[in-house]
Amino acid sequence: MDFALSEDHQMIRDMAREFADEVLAPQAAELEKTREFPEETLKKMAELGLLTPPVPEEYGGPGLDTLAYAIIGEEVARGCGSTATILGAHCSLCCMPILTFGTDEQKKKYLPQLTSAEKIGAFGLTEPSAGSDAAGIRTKAVKDGDYYVINGHKQWITNGHYAGIFVILANTNPKAGLRGITAFILDRDTPGFSTGKIEETMGIRGSAQTELHFEDVRLHKDQILGGERGLGRGFLMAMRVLDSGRIGVAAASVGIAQAALEAAVKYSKEREQFGSALKGFQAIQFMIADMSTELRAARLMTHYAAWAKDNNPKCTLEAAQAKLYASEVVGRVTDLALQIHGGYGYTKDFPLERYYRDARIKRIYEGTNEIQRMVIAHEVLRRVR
Ligand SMILES: Cc1cc2nc3c(=O)[nH]c(=O)nc-3n(C[C@H](O)[C@H](O)[C@H](O)COP(=O)(O)OP(=O)(O)OC[C@H]3O[C@@H](n4cnc5c(N)ncnc54)[C@H](O)[C@@H]3O)c2cc1C
Repeated sequence: MDFALSEDHQMIRDMAREFADEVLAPQAAELEKTREFPEETLKKMAELGLLTPPVPEEYGGPGLDTLAYAIIGEEVARGCGSTATILGAHCSLCCMPILTFGTDEQKKKYLPQLTSAEKIGAFGLTEPSAGSDAAGIRTKAVKDGDYYVINGHKQWITNGHYAGIFVILANTNPKAGLRGITAFILDRDTPGFSTGKIEETMGIRGSAQTELHFEDVRLHKDQILGGERGLGRGFLMAMRVLDSGRIGVAAASVGIAQAALEAAVKYSKEREQFGSALKGFQAIQFMIADMSTELRAARLMTHYAAWAKDNNPKCTLEAAQAKLYASEVVGRVTDLALQIHGGYGYTKDFPLERYYRDARIKRIYEGTNEIQRMVIAHEVLRRVR
């Protein structure tokens, strides 16, 4: 067993890290202050192959494996948690369902626009009354000849305010339960479609979450993800999408934790109290020891989940465990890193309070950690005899 990254993966990491250090980190604080969508940054990321890592070259992506995507996600989050969230919604939640389930026509039409960042992607599942209980969505798609007429609302949709292409879930047959949910691809300029206010969130404020409204939105049956064969398969598709999306959340958690650890180590060497640097106090050393140990475990689990995804598309257990653990680790690591900074950590003069706020969402989106525990228990009870 070789735990070392391949030369290719190391090169990808170095390139992503350089981009994060030179472009993302310096603008991260300003991005969340202005809340201006980082269009130019995303274009640069597209040029470097950082925006849609797993999308094959024929659609304009670099065609990398999931481990490379996790490495990129970590580095991007190490530089800017908000950009990592935008990346996750664009790539994991919009490009990947189109790549995995789309018809050839759908892939040819939509993926090149997404890989070039000509259009940004979003994924609309959650509704005001359907969060964890995703199967309870009320947005309806009623068949009318070759069209489906969509009415309803979505909530919390990352990139929704700026996206040009959406994968959305609607109920095409309320009597059929999970089998009554269908995924559609929607272009922003479709009549009857609009977006609402941008949410005032605690962290990742450089990304934007918004409502989506559908008022008699008419989508042709060709816009069913996967074509007519996709009818009624939307819930299963969404669960597969979230499996791989969770690896991205784990990777971003590791990236934010890494940034916090680096900041804490640096500060502990610079700050002196009682005549010596903080790094000399055992209490500080123990915090650093715990942070780095948990971070290593979270990174290994994330890389393992990425490897599992590349070797077996059904990586539900590995992805849920990586997301659960890494998202809890980033909470503990950012908390300790802020503690090491004392009062300064609590101010906006240092990035610690931002890391702390950006970390918190990781336990909530793409399935709360309570839902991850349900998924994990279900898989373990099924697999372990
Ligand atoms: C910043 C942000 C970005 C988001 N981006 C997107 C996006 O791009 N696309 C999208 O579709 N959605 C998005 N979401 C929605 C997100 O996935 C949901 O918020 C999440 O799934 C939880 O749903 P909820 O907020 O309705 O909480 P609820 O489902 O109401 O849960 C509330 C609490 O109850 C717990 N709970 C619920 N059911 C159970 C149960 N059976 N057993 C034990 N505990 C339970 C939960 O774990 C949680 O602690 C985003 C949310 C946020 C905050």
